[in-house]
Amino acid sequence: MRTKIKIKKNTLLTDEELLRFNKHILLDDINIEGQALLKEKHVVLIGLGGLGSPLAYYLASSGIGQVTLVDDDIIDTTNLQRQILYSEEDVGKKKVDIAKFKMQKLCTDMKINIISERLERNSDFSCFNDADLIIDATDNFETRSLINRISLENRVPLIMGAAIKFSGQIIVFRNDLEDQPCYNCLYESISDSNACVDSGVFAALTGVVGSIQASECFKVLLGIGERLESRLLTIDLKNNDFRIISLNRDKQCKVCNDNT
Ligand SMILES: [Zn+2]
Repeated sequence: MRTKIKIKKNTLLTDEELLRFNKHILLDDINIEGQALLKEKHVVLIGLGGLGSPLAYYLASSGIGQVTLVDDDIIDTTNLQRQILYSEEDVGKKKVDIAKFKMQKLCTDMKINIISERLERNSDFSCFNDADLIIDATDNFETRSLINRISLENRVPLIMGAAIKFSGQIIVFRNDLEDQPCYNCLYESISDSNACVDSGVFAALTGVVGSIQASECFKVLLGIGERLESRLLTIDLKNNDFRIISLNRDKQCKVCNDNT
């Protein structure tokens, strides 16, 4: 069953797209209708690091119509261990520029907007006005909290992912729907904004977390399957321990109560 996420217009697939996306179209849950729906979607991807790398590739390869990339970072040598978008020759260049270049090579028809700024409270958020989904692939608490607020204010679903050491987390916040838990309901008590930045990260973990975020992105946009909506998937890759914890809305939450 499709969700409430609306079809904006009746998009048709070209013969070339029918061939290109054949393996999606063969899936009953996607089919031609679902693939055409993806072509109408605008996804905002914030963070082009370890999680953002597989996300960027899958968004470009799978037929999303428009993507906005947000990141203010410059590529450095320590990124290459896990940020598979980048090569040695890219060190010193802007992540948004290289990400756009690599994605556009994969899919020339995709519309790709770039914002090479760190999101701040006074940033221009107009790119979120027509977004169908926001993906948080950042690595600090402060930015995550801000993205949650933007998602609530614009009533856009949010997919959050995190990776630290051997442990990962993924959750979908349906900030577009009434009475759903938001990021702040889950993490209000956490204040260590640099917890993720200063620790080691197992390279393959970021690939796993980013790929699951990509999977949830397509499932939410298409309204298929059991999704991680208000359910936190925790991953311990060292011990192959995968768990799902259900999350309820905190009725005292200051952030989502402000937006209802
Ligand atoms: Zn909340």
